[in-house]
Amino acid sequence: MSDYKFFEQVNKAFDNAAQHSRFDKGLLGQIKICNNVYHITFPLERDDGTIEVIHGWRVEHSHHKLPTKGGIRFSMSVNEDETMALAALMTYKCAVVDVPFGGAKGGIKIDKSKYSDRELERITRRYTYELIKKDFIGPGSDVPAPDYATGAREMGWILDTYRQLTSNINSEACVTGKPVPMGGIRGRTEATGRGVYFGIREACENKEDMDELGLELGLPDKTFIVQGLGNVGYHAAKYMIEGGAKMVGVAEIEGSIYDSDGIDLEQLMTFRQETGSIIGFENTKELKNNTAVLEEECDILIPAALENQLNEENAPNIKAKIIGEAANGPTTARAHTILKEKGALIIPDNYLNAGGVTVSYFEWLKNLSHVRFGRLEKRAEETSYKKILTVIENISDRTFTDEEMARLASGAGEYELVDSGLEETMIVAYNEINNLRKKHDIDLREAAFLNAIEKIGVIYEHMGIFP
Ligand code: GLU
Repeated sequence: MSDYKFFEQVNKAFDNAAQHSRFDKGLLGQIKICNNVYHITFPLERDDGTIEVIHGWRVEHSHHKLPTKGGIRFSMSVNEDETMALAALMTYKCAVVDVPFGGAKGGIKIDKSKYSDRELERITRRYTYELIKKDFIGPGSDVPAPDYATGAREMGWILDTYRQLTSNINSEACVTGKPVPMGGIRGRTEATGRGVYFGIREACENKEDMDELGLELGLPDKTFIVQGLGNVGYHAAKYMIEGGAKMVGVAEIEGSIYDSDGIDLEQLMTFRQETGSIIGFENTKELKNNTAVLEEECDILIPAALENQLNEENAPNIKAKIIGEAANGPTTARAHTILKEKGALIIPDNYLNAGGVTVSYFEWLKNLSHVRFGRLEKRAEETSYKKILTVIENISDRTFTDEEMARLASGAGEYELVDSGLEETMIVAYNEINNLRKKHDIDLREAAFLNAIEKIGVIYEHMGIFP
């Protein structure tokens, strides 16, 4: 929809929540506004020698904390309004999960499938160069990450470009979501999807809330439909299934499918890789178009693609009791109201998909400290556990086999520490916003915004206005 104003939608949700805050209009206005908006254009020489103009943006929404942080996406829907909206969501998201960054976002308006790898590399490196020129990238100023249609490979190009053009001992911390050998962190690729799972699981473990929705307690046996099998959707579905939920529907660009008996995720991924489509997979029923499955029977609906997917046209027909917003901005303000009136629990994007930036924060810390998490303490932990196990052996008639000893005494490595930090973050933040929801009799989205407004507002109160 061309008249869709995403930033306005985000601000509407902000305004709803702000009514419950104690801050005056001026301060709220300062929190809401985008601090820096940078529109970049540059020429790309295509492989066939022709020249094309590329448009990109980087928006730093809020400097109340530095660096600012947020992904870079490749999509034809990228424009200034979208980048501003997504940057604002990053600010609120970081505040909700206590990640000490301001929000930012970047985007390049291209359809990735139309360019060769060499062309994509040239685009990414030139975009990075433009960011460097204007100080829109750096370990202490603005730190990009992957987003829709970008991943570790692009982040590697960004780091390499930054490192060639600057001299900074902390240069690895200029971007997150990098390949592990380039300073990336284990667990970052799956982090957003894994966080989505932790958040939905936490919601499902709240007895009072499940009673209200008329659902059984716990994630096991709940059915879900996912939109988008990209990095976030795939990993969210994977962990949901491992947690005992059943995937009954999938929506992708080429169409949507449903099977109430459950769909095998790994086999579906292989099928799609081989045939280029999810249509025709096993016993699944093909629906009339690529969003029709969103209206099918399920307990949990996980939109994990782009914004504006649950709108006033399909919201009245959506049957899910829980909406887990893995994408950024998947539900329009109108759809949100409709779904809420129908009694659905909407777990908002600015909390639920914060797993990515949470692990990005860990990656940034790792890069600044120049040491892998667990490197110093892993063996010391193992030695202590072994001593305890040996004491247990000495005072009882229990002896441990070598395999048991190794398993019970293993210290936490980087992946285990990242995963436990992520789990803790998602659980604590869920309960924080759920308690606010109950306290003010508002919904979870308003609660997440309110939570962010309170945390950011206090900072502005303390710092005053400069100069
Ligand atoms: N692009 C992701 C998001 O929207 C991650 C951002 C980051 O890690 O900085 O949250």
